[in-house]
This record gives sequence, structure tokens and C-alpha cells, in this order.
Amino acid sequence: MTERGLLIVLSGPSGVGKGTVRKAIFESDDNDFQYSISMTTRQMRPGEVDGVDYFFRSKEEFEELIAKGEMLEYAEYVGNYYGTPLSYVEETLAQGKDVFLEIEVQGAKQVKEKVPEGVYIFLTPPDLEELRSRIVGRGTDSIEVIDERMRVAKEEIEMMALYDYAIVNDEVPKAVKRIKEIIASEHFRVERVINKYRKMIEEL
Ligand code: 5GP
Repeated sequence: MTERGLLIVLSGPSGVGKGTVRKAIFESDDNDFQYSISMTTRQMRPGEVDGVDYFFRSKEEFEELIAKGEMLEYAEYVGNYYGTPLSYVEETLAQGKDVFLEIEVQGAKQVKEKVPEGVYIFLTPPDLEELRSRIVGRGTDSIEVIDERMRVAKEEIEMMALYDYAIVNDEVPKAVKRIKEIIASEHFRVERVINKYRKMIEEL
């Protein structure tokens, strides 16, 4: 029997650069993951291709798939649906290949509930780390601006609590390297390999 692949979920607050990091991962030649193409009801942007960037579908078609239970997760984001078709993920994991999702946080939460053994990576903005020094330092920000930044930062940190790893997106190549390292070591976790060894012993 083939070992199941890993389900890797990359998420994080909006504007953090998830899409850029994901594209950089898939453009590098040493990656071994399968990208799960999402479905969306938003308008296609210039240069995008149906079936490559997204599966572009109507609201009715999308809602029909939700009703049939054919989405692993979905969310409404800025007035459109975005979601992950279930069958590709299921079939690819069953073939022993790693599947990579790049999705927003509401969807990631749903996947975590359904697939707790996945690897959950939260991409954080670098300014979340710089926040304290900026605020504590001789900042010229008004109280209102500081309060708003603190509120957003608190929300982002609360979201982070659901994940296994927090990766700072300070520079895209660095974030890509960190993500690849995490995935490589996740493959060696004892709970992921022990059954293989148990079977080997049984078959002796
Ligand atoms: P955009 O419209 O800029 O391509 O994507 C908007 C947001 O939707 C991004 O944060 C992206 O990560 C998220 N997104 C893309 N595909 C999916 C998906 O399948 N499910 C969910 N929940 N979010 C997605």
C-alpha cells in the first residue's frame, strides 16, 4: 500500500503575500508538491487561464458543488466564493503525493477540522515582528493609528494559534526556503513513518 501524501496548507492574513510565495515555490524546480487548483466565482484577471490559475465557475455551479459535498472547504471572500475541490486532493494524497493548498484563513480553519494531520503554515507579515519596536520607539504614529495596528496584530496572532508553523514573509526566497525545510522534516516525523516499520517487522 502506498503511504498517503501530506496535505500542506499555506494561509495567513490578507495582503501578506501568500500567492507570491506559493508561485515562487511552484516555479522552483526542486519542489515535489502538487498544487490544488482552487475554484472561484470571481472574474478572471488579464493573463489568467481557466484550469491553471483557478477553475472559474458561476455562482450557481459553485453552489451546486457545495450542496453535493464536493468541496473540501470554501469561503466567501470580498463577495466571491473560493474553494478547494475535494476529489483532486483525495486522489492525489491517496497516490502518495503531497498536496499544497494556498487559501485564506476561514478555509484553512475548515481544512484543519477535517484533516487535523495536515501541515498548517501561517505566513506572517514582517511588520508584525517590527510592531513592538516601532510602537515603543520614538514613533510618530497617533494613538488611533497605534490602536488600529494593535487590533489588527492581535487578530492575526489569534489566527496563528491554529497553525503548526509561523513563517515570516520578510523576503520571498527566504520564506520559500523555510517552507520547503518544514515540509522536508515533516516527512520524517515518527508518527508518519512508524506504521511502515511496524509492517516491515510483521512481514519478517
Ligand atoms: P485572489 O482573488 O487574489 O486570487 O485571491 C484572494 C484570496 O483567496 C487569497 O487570500 C487566496 O489565498 C484565497 N484563496 C484562493 N483560493 C482559495 C481557496 O480555494 N479557498 C479559500 N478559502 N481561499 C482561497
